[in-house]
Amino acid sequence: MHYDIAIIGYGPVGAVTANLFGQKGFNTIVIEPKKEIWDIPRAVHFDGQTQRIFQTMGFMDEISKIIHPMEGINFLNNKGKSIVNINLKLDEPINGYDESVFFNQPIFEKFLRSEAIKHNNIDIKLGYKLTNIDAQESINNLTLLNINNEENEYITSSYVLACDGANSFVRKALNIESFDYKCDQDWVVVDYQVDEKYKINTDRYQICDYKRPTTIVPITGQHVRWEFKVNPDDNLETLEDEKNIRKMMKPHLWRLNPEIPLHSGKLLRSSAYTFHGLLAKNFKFNNCFLLGDAAHQMPPFLGQGLCQGIKDSYNLCWKLSGVMNNAFNKKILNTYSLERKGIVDFVIKGAMKQGDIIGSQDWLTATLRDIYLNVASYIPKLLKPLKFQKPWKIKNGMIDNYLFPNDVNGVIIPHPSLDIKVDNKLFDQYLGNNFGILLFHNDINVFNEIKNLESAKIFDNNIHLMTEDNKFNQDKKISSWAKENNISAAIIRPDQHIYGCVDDEDIVNNIDKLTTKLKGELFKH
Ligand SMILES: Cc1cc2nc3c(=O)[nH]c(=O)nc-3n(C[C@H](O)[C@H](O)[C@H](O)COP(=O)(O)OP(=O)(O)OC[C@H]3O[C@@H](n4cnc5c(N)ncnc54)[C@H](O)[C@@H]3O)c2cc1C
Repeated sequence: MHYDIAIIGYGPVGAVTANLFGQKGFNTIVIEPKKEIWDIPRAVHFDGQTQRIFQTMGFMDEISKIIHPMEGINFLNNKGKSIVNINLKLDEPINGYDESVFFNQPIFEKFLRSEAIKHNNIDIKLGYKLTNIDAQESINNLTLLNINNEENEYITSSYVLACDGANSFVRKALNIESFDYKCDQDWVVVDYQVDEKYKINTDRYQICDYKRPTTIVPITGQHVRWEFKVNPDDNLETLEDEKNIRKMMKPHLWRLNPEIPLHSGKLLRSSAYTFHGLLAKNFKFNNCFLLGDAAHQMPPFLGQGLCQGIKDSYNLCWKLSGVMNNAFNKKILNTYSLERKGIVDFVIKGAMKQGDIIGSQDWLTATLRDIYLNVASYIPKLLKPLKFQKPWKIKNGMIDNYLFPNDVNGVIIPHPSLDIKVDNKLFDQYLGNNFGILLFHNDINVFNEIKNLESAKIFDNNIHLMTEDNKFNQDKKISSWAKENNISAAIIRPDQHIYGCVDDEDIVNNIDKLTTKLKGELFKH
């Protein structure tokens, strides 16, 4: 049996990938040994960009029912006094959505699976494991083990998307090594369900006590995530025992509600983790691609591991779809690894920094940290490293780096308020998964000249005049952004990142040059 795409692993990244490629109509198989969703909540946090991806997939109406916004986080010192309270609501939501929201991973995965099975072009094989891969230049020969009867089955696929997690069989089989950031930290992660009768305070706390750095994060409903840093003198044998966990919870439980008795509620799980920072040296080998934890692992302090896996998939999907539909040159697939590695490296380093800030176990460093944070509470600029809202930027890949350099090339375009719709569509949905041009210029003649450019045919009329009367400009977010960055016209990629932009000088000619450059990258050779 031959498939266009074989997705290895049906964790959350595999399930998002199945939906993305299923929506494009490709003949897809998904291989997963486990028959059930792994019912332990690992990821709890999404960012705004991730929600934009769900919007373009048409999932946000449902996802919005299972998420809760995070308003901020209070950093406390070892005496329980607030050193800084970071209010995330004060920042303008550049992606339209709340920049930090909480969710329950198994519920999310269940939703993804319910959507994936709607596609007749996806063959979902639960109870099967990939045991051999022969990755040729244009075809992959795959051996699958049927776990029920221990028999092998053989298939081929044009492409392999390895979403098989941290211990990725595919990554190892293809001999792809990982860079180790050597930032291992040991933490115990606990999911705790508070008894229904106690209403909980939903404030989130980072307790910067050098004797036991602790995180308390109410997620959704009565579910609270606790994280305790492991101390050198902890007894590793009893670390995850309920008695020990409740002992570590004891000094802080009252913060959820002073009436909660210490032995009430249910410990859904406790698990000791060594958090790593690992980045595969290449996310691609021939027609095989690594995505999610198979490609990278990071300490969870920014809540980004899964978000980045979803972004891997989104980045790859428009490129690979274009190549498979013979619209784009296969060479653009090399930009997947380049672009994603650059961003994930930045995020891993950010997560490490965050881990160092909250996890110090040395009195002097912790005291200096507390002083810094206290000062920073009066100078908001200093708090930047602790904020989740970052314009993560593609530095190298399919963006214009030399024709018309601008700091925004490679960043995602701001999203207007979610109250604004045109033709019943939000901004990203309206632009669609295509290249497009946004023109911030009042002269309709310039608009028409751009539309009539021979080179602009590739945009298939996805060219929009973003003058003040454009409905998407009602909140002025995009027009102010364009003004601040001296942009008169911008080329937007199918993933809403800026390919390149031009200023007010000779707009038509320069857009022609930029489009010709883009065409060269998309179609050359
Ligand atoms: C404590 C903790 C907190 C976290 N918090 C966050 C957070 O708040 N936000 C966030 O974005 N991320 C967070 N993360 C990270 C996030 O949980 C992971 O990045 C994400 O779950 C990885 O998903 P995945 O689909 O890539 O891998 P997995 O979920 O590991 O799925 C891989 C799948 O591949 C299957 N598989 C393995 N081998 C084979 C094979 N040979 N053949 C076929 N299938 C195979 C496995 O059975 C599995 O189902 C957190 C992680 C931890 C540990």
